[in-house]
Amino acid sequence: MKKNQVVNNKIVLATKNQGKVREFKALFSELGIEILSMKELANVPEIIEDGNTFEENAKKKAETICKLTGVPTIADDSGLVVDILGGAPGVYSARYAGEHATDEENNQKLLQALAGIPMEKRTAHFVAYLAFAVPNSETIGVQDSVDGYILESPRGQYGFGYDPLFYLPEYNKTMAELNPETKNRISHRGKAMRRLFQMLKDQWEQ
Ligand code: IMP
Repeated sequence: MKKNQVVNNKIVLATKNQGKVREFKALFSELGIEILSMKELANVPEIIEDGNTFEENAKKKAETICKLTGVPTIADDSGLVVDILGGAPGVYSARYAGEHATDEENNQKLLQALAGIPMEKRTAHFVAYLAFAVPNSETIGVQDSVDGYILESPRGQYGFGYDPLFYLPEYNKTMAELNPETKNRISHRGKAMRRLFQMLKDQWEQ
């Protein structure tokens, strides 16, 4: 990210996660860059996530919005990968139990899919990919992940999605039992976000 690529010192952040918008705003303010969230953009259509990988989905979102707005754009895609399920739910994490499935329904479907599987084989990973698209330049990206196990019943009240089933042996807690600051420090998305920021900051300061 060169200074001349960031016209007016603005970057769009295409994520539905308002927590991430706040964190990015704080990080990028250090570089004098203003983060615009999807709420602040008019007439951006819903982008269909039809890729086979987190990378494809994040790049498609970032590149489409960058083309529409002419503004450099960061987009994310993330999900849960369960080894014994061949990587499912993967890019289908949000709609594992159906198009408008609730977290509860997705968790129930996951527990059914893993019924009878012993704990040592219930290894899983949260994965996040962040893509950064700039007009007339190649899109860059970073992927990060966090490893754990899928429990047989939910625990904890923080977080969202599959957090209550995702057990982290190092903490002897599920993701939903970690306070939000700790989750952000160790999570797939938090790690990917800080790595992308560092990459962009290094280029910016060159
Ligand atoms: P996205 O909005 O397309 O990235 O959808 C990601 C989906 O993956 C979410 O709806 C959740 O089901 C799941 N997911 C991603 N990150 C997390 C997390 O940090 N905790 C729990 N579930 C997650």
